[in-house]
Amino acid sequence: MSIAGGVENAPIRAHKIGAKAFAMFTRNQRQWQSKPLTEKNIKMFKENCKTYNYNPKYILPHASYLINLGSPSIETFTKSKKAFTEEMKRCSLLGLKYLNVHPGAHLNKTGENDCLNQIADAVNETLEIVKGVTIVCENTAGEGTNVGYRFEHLAKIIEMTDDKKRIGVCIDTCHMFAAGYDIRSREAYEKTFDEFDKVIGFNFLKGMHLNDAKSQFASRVDRHNSIGMGNIGIDAFRFIMNDKRIDDIPMILETTNPDLWQKEIEMLYGFIEKHQV
Ligand SMILES: [Zn+2]
Repeated sequence: MSIAGGVENAPIRAHKIGAKAFAMFTRNQRQWQSKPLTEKNIKMFKENCKTYNYNPKYILPHASYLINLGSPSIETFTKSKKAFTEEMKRCSLLGLKYLNVHPGAHLNKTGENDCLNQIADAVNETLEIVKGVTIVCENTAGEGTNVGYRFEHLAKIIEMTDDKKRIGVCIDTCHMFAAGYDIRSREAYEKTFDEFDKVIGFNFLKGMHLNDAKSQFASRVDRHNSIGMGNIGIDAFRFIMNDKRIDDIPMILETTNPDLWQKEIEMLYGFIEKHQV
């Protein structure tokens, strides 16, 4: 949800399209610097969440794309950690529980292992400074030198995190598919999510990004598409909506056509088989 005009507008916009959960940035995500939240922003945001019935548990704020906690450049790494800590503080001020972040990229200057170690260090440092907010690492498509495209990468970050109660993951279906995890058929879906459970564990799943894919299977290319219009297809989303292991968490659309969001939400809820309600 857009935060144009102030963060307090996000819950109003979410309500307008019939969303029961939503994602937002807590600041302008294209700049390193941002104005501090005002008392009014904070008060209005909390009030609007209450009015429209959004529990912080179902709000999954997204960190700025500028942040690279795996950066091989000391300068960018330091800047990223600072910006990320600031965003965690903003979440805390807004009464939010989670902050979703893409793990990071090594830019071919270091390797995947060093990159993951560095990310875990940053996670530990940040959790030490800001209390009450859980870091949610998102799986990636593995485009460029991004880590996080294997479940094992996310598991490694969790393993190295001291406070296991405040680390979790978000699974993006487009990224998963582009990274080579098939969910198109019932068999493929079960195999992929069994592997997820074995390597990471559903207890760490704090949210999902529901996106179809313009990119091809295992292409390592990150291109989202509207639900049912891409290479994943509609069945996978039916499986997800009826999967009891994936209940009571925020499910976020990052699909390409905002005009379809309301319809997509209705369609997804419509997939839930009656005997499960
Ligand atoms: Zn995503």
